[in-house]
Amino acid sequence: MSAESERPRIGVLAIQGDYAAHADALAQSGATPVEVRKPEELEDLDALIIPGGESTTMLKFLERGKLFDELRSFCQSHPVFGTCAGAILLAREVRNPPQASLGVLDAVIERNAYGRQIDSSILFSDTRLPGGKLEMVFIRAPRIIETGPEVEVLAHRDGRPTLIRQGKVMAATFHPELTPDDRRVHQAFVDLVKSTPSITRKVS
Ligand code: GLN
Repeated sequence: MSAESERPRIGVLAIQGDYAAHADALAQSGATPVEVRKPEELEDLDALIIPGGESTTMLKFLERGKLFDELRSFCQSHPVFGTCAGAILLAREVRNPPQASLGVLDAVIERNAYGRQIDSSILFSDTRLPGGKLEMVFIRAPRIIETGPEVEVLAHRDGRPTLIRQGKVMAATFHPELTPDDRRVHQAFVDLVKSTPSITRKVS
């Protein structure tokens, strides 16, 4: 991205899940969304969103091709935002059960952490984002059970973080793309992308 005023090109990993809703949210937040299914589609992107879905299914797809390694190096050098299963894929450690992850976020996350009755719910949280309480849609959500010292908590549920930021990495255990009347979370990510110096990606 050459100028602050330009719309950043933000990829949305489009393997599974509601990537189209993320693309809409990005378009409404001043970015140009780009669907990503192949390693070469990461080229020329300023940032990436990894949506929710089923992290085990996403992992299988990523590990089948060259995408897992390419994605990891992209996430080590660019702003990235993971929601729900996407947050699971970014964490340094996954529990219930343990599984591989990209390890770019200093957090331990537990999959499917809420009982059957409340595994899908809508709650409101105080938030450090401006504009009052934040609506959070949880769907078979994970729970962040440990965070490192550099992690900033932006919203929470029952005292556990639900929206966090560590440098240029953001993660949410809920689905901000499903609250179309409130784009503050995607806007915060687009602002983060705009404030991050752009990187010329090395193409191998
Ligand atoms: N339960 C899913 C997993 O463990 C995450 C659910 C979601 O992304 N909505 O991967």
